Amino acid sequence: MPEGHSVHRIARQFERHFEHTPVAVTSPQGRFAAGAAQLDGHEIVRSEAVGKQMFLEFDHGLWLRVHLGIYGAWDFAGDITVDATTASANGRMGQTAMRGTESRGTESRGTESRGTDLAAHEDSLSSMGAPRLTRLRMSEQEKVEDDIESFPPEPIGAVRVRLLTDRAVADLRGPTACEVQTPEQVDATIAKLGPDPLVGDPAVGEERFVAAVRKKPTPIALLLMDQAVVSGIGNVYRAEMLFRARQNPFTPGKEVREEVVRALWRDWVKLLTIGVATGQMLTMDDLSDADYQKALASRADRHWVYHRTGEPCRVCGTPILMQELGGRKLYWCPVDQA
Ligand SMILES: [Zn+2]
Repeated sequence: MPEGHSVHRIARQFERHFEHTPVAVTSPQGRFAAGAAQLDGHEIVRSEAVGKQMFLEFDHGLWLRVHLGIYGAWDFAGDITVDATTASANGRMGQTAMRGTESRGTESRGTESRGTDLAAHEDSLSSMGAPRLTRLRMSEQEKVEDDIESFPPEPIGAVRVRLLTDRAVADLRGPTACEVQTPEQVDATIAKLGPDPLVGDPAVGEERFVAAVRKKPTPIALLLMDQAVVSGIGNVYRAEMLFRARQNPFTPGKEVREEVVRALWRDWVKLLTIGVATGQMLTMDDLSDADYQKALASRADRHWVYHRTGEPCRVCGTPILMQELGGRKLYWCPVDQA
């Protein structure tokens, strides 16, 4: 399931390459034909992510709301942005990736400064003339696919909605939600969602988060994934944030010390920012350059506890535990998070 950073990156893709130009909206699969007809020919004027949901505002006041869920994915082609991290993670160490890596110094630095460096070197592929032939899939992971042969490419598979401009195309497959909303409906949807660090004032978000957590008897591990409490956190960030805070996952929210709850929010602000900049859920700080490259390239080298059942804790050596909680796998260190 895509976590918040992925959805913010998808919204940015729309912001850069689909706004302020007429968009042909169709439903090649047919299931969204009526909705597509309501949006067809209008311009997108705003692209926003709130947690795991994305909202595209069109110039006549209607919105498209999309929730990818577990299986959803966007396929982009044409003039789109592929950043250094995605290109390099794909094994395409071209000029773009080299720029992304050589900008970094040799000293060991935290993930914070690195994320910023990478963001600064994001490669916009906009050009004059014919649309580019690049193709990029954006869901939980991002993957550069084989170039298209002509623009626009034929839809592949069950495309719920296709958004097409002169220069770029986006095909949506397998979403949990894809619907047209009025401004009132968008407001109502967002009102039910917990705060997202990148939407509105993060200080206000922090107060909402603290208030919601501190009144609930639910284990903190479940509250972090409750989209009504906080937006965008999924299974990976949840496990990693609790380890970073050295917090027992089963402590009821109302019994977690307030300074820890605040630290969890601030850590989410930080990790989400890095995730949006790099496209990867980088959750380990102060890595050497070599370890940072390993973390970018491989999930196994990227996390403290996520997906590390039975492996030694990177801090204390105790085997990492896993247990199902609320239908999802929870990973933690029984010593550091006692
Ligand atoms: Zn440990």
